[in-house]
Amino acid sequence: MDELVERWAEELNKAVSMAAGNPQDRKSTWLAYSTLFALYEIKWYELGLPPSLADTRFPTHTVFDHLYATASASNFFYDNNGVTDVPKGFVVSVDIPGVQSFISHSRKLGDFWAASWIISNLSWRTVWRAIKAFGPDVLISPSPRLNPYLLVSLSNEAEKLGKQDLKKKNLVDILKKSTNELMKMISPYESFSGNDLFELAEITPMIPEKIRFILPKMFYIEDKDGSVKYIEREEDVADLVKVWFREAWKEILEEAGFYSNGDKMKKALREMIKQFGEKVIEEPPFYPRIKVVNVDEVNKNLNKYLEKIGWKVEGGQSSAPLSKEGEISPLLWNVLIFLLDKSPTYRLDPIPRAFWVLDDNGDSIVPVYDSDKVDVDKMKFKSWVQCSLCGEEPAIKLGKEFKNDVAKYKEEDLEKILEITGVSRSELEDLPSIIKPGEALGPYCLLRRLLYLEKREKLGFESTDRLVLRSLDLFIKEFGLREKLLQNFIKVVEDQRERVNTNVQLDNDKIREALSLVFSETFSHLGKERYEGFEKAANKLGIDEEEKFINMLEDALRNLKEELKKEKFLANEEDMGKLAEMISKHFGKDLGRLFEEYLNREENEDEENEKDVRLDRVLSLFEAMLRLRRYYAILRMDGDFIGRIVSGKLPLYSEMFTDDGKMKTMKLSEYVKMLYDSMKKNASGEQRVKIEEVEKKAMENAEILEKTIKIREGKHSQYKEFEGIIVSPSYYMHISTSLMLQALRDTMLIRMNEGFPIYAGGDDLNALLPIETSIKAVAELRKSFWYWNEGKDRFAILRIRGDQREESEKDYNLPLREASIPVSSLLPTGRSASLRFAKIKDLTGEEIAEAGELLENEAKESSWSLNGKKVAKDTIVMSDSSDKNISLLPFSLRKDRDIELVIDEVHVGALGRLWMLRLLGMLSGNLPEDAFDQVPSELWNPDNDKKRNALKKLGGYVFKRNISTKRKDEMVNELMRSLEDANAFTAVNSKATGGMVGDSYENLALLYHIFKSIKIMRDLPK
Ligand SMILES: [Zn+2]
Repeated sequence: MDELVERWAEELNKAVSMAAGNPQDRKSTWLAYSTLFALYEIKWYELGLPPSLADTRFPTHTVFDHLYATASASNFFYDNNGVTDVPKGFVVSVDIPGVQSFISHSRKLGDFWAASWIISNLSWRTVWRAIKAFGPDVLISPSPRLNPYLLVSLSNEAEKLGKQDLKKKNLVDILKKSTNELMKMISPYESFSGNDLFELAEITPMIPEKIRFILPKMFYIEDKDGSVKYIEREEDVADLVKVWFREAWKEILEEAGFYSNGDKMKKALREMIKQFGEKVIEEPPFYPRIKVVNVDEVNKNLNKYLEKIGWKVEGGQSSAPLSKEGEISPLLWNVLIFLLDKSPTYRLDPIPRAFWVLDDNGDSIVPVYDSDKVDVDKMKFKSWVQCSLCGEEPAIKLGKEFKNDVAKYKEEDLEKILEITGVSRSELEDLPSIIKPGEALGPYCLLRRLLYLEKREKLGFESTDRLVLRSLDLFIKEFGLREKLLQNFIKVVEDQRERVNTNVQLDNDKIREALSLVFSETFSHLGKERYEGFEKAANKLGIDEEEKFINMLEDALRNLKEELKKEKFLANEEDMGKLAEMISKHFGKDLGRLFEEYLNREENEDEENEKDVRLDRVLSLFEAMLRLRRYYAILRMDGDFIGRIVSGKLPLYSEMFTDDGKMKTMKLSEYVKMLYDSMKKNASGEQRVKIEEVEKKAMENAEILEKTIKIREGKHSQYKEFEGIIVSPSYYMHISTSLMLQALRDTMLIRMNEGFPIYAGGDDLNALLPIETSIKAVAELRKSFWYWNEGKDRFAILRIRGDQREESEKDYNLPLREASIPVSSLLPTGRSASLRFAKIKDLTGEEIAEAGELLENEAKESSWSLNGKKVAKDTIVMSDSSDKNISLLPFSLRKDRDIELVIDEVHVGALGRLWMLRLLGMLSGNLPEDAFDQVPSELWNPDNDKKRNALKKLGGYVFKRNISTKRKDEMVNELMRSLEDANAFTAVNSKATGGMVGDSYENLALLYHIFKSIKIMRDLPK
C-alpha cells in the first residue's frame, strides 16, 4: 500500500514537472496545476488504490469529493489583493436553448452526430476559456473530474506548448495514456480492444448544453493580446461569456475544416457555405442564456437573515455552526445554487441570422441579411428555397434529373458548383453521397455535412446501414459462406439484369465489389472495411434504386438458404457449436445458454415423420440469422428525478416511494438523524454521550432551518417551505462525478454492443444499436446505473485488472493491481428507457423524436405496484415504427422495503425464453393475438387472488396451445416459473395506453405487457 502511494506521488510529480516551467510563465504554471488537478484522482485509481472517506463518521463522500469541492470553493476567497475573508465572486450558468430541434433536424446518421458534437463542443469550448484563465476547478457541472474532455483539451494544449518545449510533448503521452486507462477502467467487459479510446472520447458528444462554473472576482487576462479586464459586476461576467461563446463557435468552424484548404469535396461544401456570405456562418446559430449570481451580495443578505433568526455570524462567514474557516458554508452554497436558476438571464445579443421571407410578389423565397454581410450580386445561386433539412434557413438547391434512370444533379446546378469551386467534374464524383441530388441545404446544415466529412475517419461509422448489416455480415464471414453467397448473387443479377435496367457492364468482379460495400467484414480481405451501404452498392451495379438491389440480395440469400438445406448444412456438432457461440456473441450469453439448453432437449430423430427435429430447430434459427435486416434500434434513456436529487431532494434509498408511488423527500432533520444514528452505531458509551450532545445541537439547527427558511418560487409567486437537505459543494461534486462516470460507462456499453452513441451525458443517453444486441444492451445499461456485477454494491465501481498493465510496468515489484474500487455512490433513483425499432427507410429524425415522446409520455408516466406498494417511472417502453403497438416493462419493483432490479427476471428470464423459443421455431407467432382472444379482458386487471389464479391458468393454457415440441409440458412449466419470478401475474402497471383491450383498464398485469412485447419482438431480427 505504502509502496503504491509512493508510486502515485512519483508519477504525479513526473507529470507535473513535465508541465511546469519558469514560475514566471503563466501558461506553464497553469498547465502544471491543471495536470495535477486532472491526474490526481485518476492516477490513484489507476494504481488500484481505493478512495478513503472524507469523514469516517459520515460515510457520504470521499476525500476526493472533499478536496475537489474545496479547490472549487477556493475561487470564492481570492480577489486581486489575494486571500479574502468574505466569499466573493460569481456562480454562472450558461445554456443553449433549442438544442433538441437542432439535433432532430437530421436526415443522415452523420447529421445527428454532427449536431450533437457541435452542441457538446460549444458548451465545452466556452467553459474551457474560463478554465484556461482560472484553472479547471472553476467548472462545477458537468464534473471536471474523470472527465475525458478535460484530458483531451489539456493534451491538445500541452501539444501546442510542446512545439517550443519538448518536456511538454512527453506530457501529451501521459495524458493520452491516462484517458485510455480511465476508459478501460469503466469498461464492464474483461478486455476492451477497439478504437483508440482517446479518439473515442474526442468524438463522442458528452458535454450537456447546460454548464455551470464559478468565476473569481479578479482580473481576467485575455489570452490572445494580454489585455486585462476586471470582473466586477454581473454584466462583466455576461459580456465575457458572450465573447467566449463566439470564440468557441469559431473553433467549431476550424474543427469542421471551414478555414482549411485542400480536399476537393470539402472545398465544394466550403464554397457553397460561402455563397451565403462568409460572415453569416461566423455567427453561431444559437443565443446562449447566461445567468449570474453575485456571491458577495447573496452572502451579505444571507448573513442579515441568519442574524435575524438569532444565529451568530463570525468573520463574515455565514451559518457558523456549519462552516470552518476557509470553506464556503454549505448553506451559502445551497442558496447560490438555488438562486442560479431563478436569476435573470443575459442573452447573447440577437444576431442577424439567415432567415428567409417571401419576396414582394409573394412567389419566391429570398434571404434576409444585413447588407454589409452579404453581397447578393456576387452570388451564383440566386433562387433560394427552404432548407430541406431544418426548414429554417435559405438553401442552395442542387436539383435532380435522371440520366439513364440514375439520379444526378441538374446540369446547370452542377455547373454552378464547378464554377464556384474551381474543381473538375470528376473530382466531385462522390459529392452525391454527401448531398443527395434534389437536396436543398442552408449554411448551418452544410456545415454539419462538412464537419462529418472532416471527422468521418475517426467516427468509423457510415450510416444506419452498418447497424442493419453488421450482424448478418459477421454471420456470413464466421460460417465461411462468402463464395456461396457470391455465386448465388451473381445468378440473381444475371437473371434480373433486364428488369433492373442497368447499362453497366456487369462482370463477376464488379458484382463482388458491390457486395463488398455491404458485407465489409466478409470481404475485408479486399482491403475494404467501411460499410458504404445499399445505395452505393446499387450504384456500383448501375441500379438506380437501392430497393431493387435489396430485393436482389434477398433473393440471393433465400436461394443460399435452400442450397444449404439440401446440403444438410449444420448437421454436424462442430457447426452447431459455432452457431451457439455466434448466438452468445450477438444476442448475449443468456440467450446462448438457452439455445443450448433447449436444443439439447430435442430428440434427434422423429420416428413417425422420419425427420431430424434438432436440425429443423437449428435451421429455423439459422434462417432468422441469414435474413436481410431492414431494421435497427433507437435507444433513449434518461434518469428519473435527477433534477430533484441534484437540488438536494433526496429520497431514502429503501423508502424511495410512499405506498401510493409518490417520491418521498427526506427532510433535513431526517437526514441529520440518519447520519448521527449511523455514527452512534459504532461508538463506545463515552463517545455516544458526546455524539448525542452534538447531535442535539445539530437537530436544533436543522429544525430552525426547516421552520424559518422559506424559498420564493419565481418572481411574483408564493413562498415555499424549504425542502430536502442542504446541498453542500461536496454533495454537488459527488453527484456530478457519478453522472460523469455514467456517461463514460454508457459510451463504452454502446460501443461494445456494436452501437453508435449520438449523445451520452450523465443520465441522458441517445444511441442507435443493431437489433440483435439492443435488448441486452438496455438491460446492461440499466444495471450499470445501480450496480456493476451481481453484487448489490451501492457504489459506482471502477475495475482495475492486472492483465491490462503493460509489460514494462511489471518491473516494479508491486502487487498485481487487480481491484474493484468504489468511487462514488450510485444515484438513488431509477432510469427509464425507450427502445424503438425503425426501418432504414424511415426518417431517423422523426423516429428519434418519437422515441423521445414515448419516453416522456409513456415510460415516465408509468408506475408499477406489487402487493399494494408502488414504484414510479423506471420503465422501458418498446415500440416499432411500423405499428402503433407499444409495451411497458418495469426495470425495478418494490419488494417489501427494498426496491429491486427485476431486469434478469423480466428481460432475460421471461422475454428471453419466449424469444429463443420463437427463434427456434417452437413458438407460434400468433401467441399474442391468441392470448388477447382467450383471456377475458377483466382478467388483465388481477385485483384479487381468484383473478390472479385464473390469469395464471389461462396463461399456461395459451402457452401450451402455441408451443410445439414433444416436451412441451416441461417447457411451459419452466416458462411459468420464470414468469412467476418476474411477478408477471401480480405486478400491475398503472399507465394504460390505447392497447388491445382499450383504455378502460387502469391496472394491467405485467403479463399483458409481456404478450405485447412478444408482439413487437416476434419477427426480430427483421
Ligand atoms: Zn438547414
